[in-house]
Amino acid sequence: MDKLKVVKFGGSSLADERGFRRAAEIVLSDEGRRFVVVSALGVGHNAKTKITDDLITAYGELSGGESKTLDKVLMRFAFLARELGVAFADELIKTRKEILKHRRDKAFIISRGEYLTAKLMAKFLGFEFLDAKDFISVRNGELQVKKTRENFLSLDKNARYVIGGFYGSYDVFKKCKCGATLRKTQKISLLSRGGGDITGAIASISLRASVYENYTDVYGVQNSDPRKRPDAQTYASLSRAELFKILESGAQVIHIDCLKILAESGIKLVIDNTFDPHKKNTEVLF
Ligand code: ASP
Repeated sequence: MDKLKVVKFGGSSLADERGFRRAAEIVLSDEGRRFVVVSALGVGHNAKTKITDDLITAYGELSGGESKTLDKVLMRFAFLARELGVAFADELIKTRKEILKHRRDKAFIISRGEYLTAKLMAKFLGFEFLDAKDFISVRNGELQVKKTRENFLSLDKNARYVIGGFYGSYDVFKKCKCGATLRKTQKISLLSRGGGDITGAIASISLRASVYENYTDVYGVQNSDPRKRPDAQTYASLSRAELFKILESGAQVIHIDCLKILAESGIKLVIDNTFDPHKKNTEVLF
């Protein structure tokens, strides 16, 4: 069996049908790519906003009644699922109901972007879907590393999974109506923005992956912002300290918290371009 690789796709890679198909091609071209992490759909040709930002708007609208933005979010998923040939209507109806039921729970509502993107990707790839609430332990926005690592022990390293990034859960104990017994429920908590990268990093160390591939829509880490400077050059390899410096100076290519999680793990981080993979990328050995 090939060594396990954790593969993460950012929202900018997964904005539309083209991004989904490219991501799937990358995953399926290597048997080692068995654990896939996705962010919520991002900005693309046909979408000017990120699903995460739309869900933040929807949460605000729902406190006053109906939300047009929620309908827009669900329509975007419905349209994409149809283009991909995935049956998704039941999932969207169920999620709509749950969002209305949890209309005061901001983290729950926002997390549905990653949840639905992962469900759709799992169906498209034919992989098993994992709900991040059952594996990623997060309390007050803080990743609980030890508990999360324990949660991963139940997974079969030879199976192929898709999980949504950016959210997890913590246990809450509620008294039942009779007041006598305590019932355990899980409350959703979000990581900081861009936190899908953190999910990929914790999955990589928990599963003892050999490689953590983080796919964006640019050529790895570059010496200037490729959106402003088309002549930007990609660093083929960086040390952990060099990457830290670049991220600290404001580059948004990967979440800075990943560095701490991956430290001393022996994992190779590869930051690559979904739309032109394995050509110009950046490797960082931890
Ligand atoms: N969807 C979240 C965000 O927009 C998390 C992520 O993209 O990783 O920040």
